[in-house]
Amino acid sequence: MNILLIAGHGEEDPGACLYSRREATMARELVALLQKELLKYECKCGVYNPDLSAYHQMITLGKPYDFTMYDYVLEVHFNAHKSNADGKVQGSEMYVTSGELVTTLEERILNNLAAIGFTNRGIKCKDFAVIKKAKKQGVSSALLETCFIDDEDDMMLYLNNTELVAKTIAYAIAAEYGLEKKVQATFRDTEEHWAKKDIEKVAKSGLMKGYYDGTFMPDNFVTRGELATVLSRILSK
Ligand SMILES: [Zn+2]
Repeated sequence: MNILLIAGHGEEDPGACLYSRREATMARELVALLQKELLKYECKCGVYNPDLSAYHQMITLGKPYDFTMYDYVLEVHFNAHKSNADGKVQGSEMYVTSGELVTTLEERILNNLAAIGFTNRGIKCKDFAVIKKAKKQGVSSALLETCFIDDEDDMMLYLNNTELVAKTIAYAIAAEYGLEKKVQATFRDTEEHWAKKDIEKVAKSGLMKGYYDGTFMPDNFVTRGELATVLSRILSK
């Protein structure tokens, strides 16, 4: 499984702008977070050169791009409404090309975003140029309008939950394609530890996991709760 993430706009085109918010910048930040989350699963995930605008390169300049090494292409944008419509126009929506027959992944992504609080505006069909190029090469593709850059409720929700948004989109992709989480077996604080080999063995087996910050804390005490978790994992093996 190989996923390509493209942040919308870029180069001379900032996309939608309001106050200090620039769509191109926000899309690149979300794409970077999303790549980090996706790489926690058993898959490959590439990012289109963030210094460039995929639209400008592929469509305006007509430069060829080979999508065929990818299984799924996701282009990330932020939406904007023309007038000041705070509280009236908000939420997430996704676009697929007319050639896309199955949209279960896009439904998952929108449902997961709705669980955070974003209005589900549904899946729409539109042949946006870049995702159409991918689909023409036989690669499934979609464009996500994450939420509205000019809606204060959307922005508040997004800025307070940015990591969760990335996590939940990654989770939708992983669930759709049946991607397992990568087992982390090396930790940044066990390199010199006498129990290094045993720690890696139990980590690989899934019996013990490290902390979110990439440490294992090999000299920490085990609580009764943690011991019960390990024993429970042994029992269910
Ligand atoms: Zn856009």
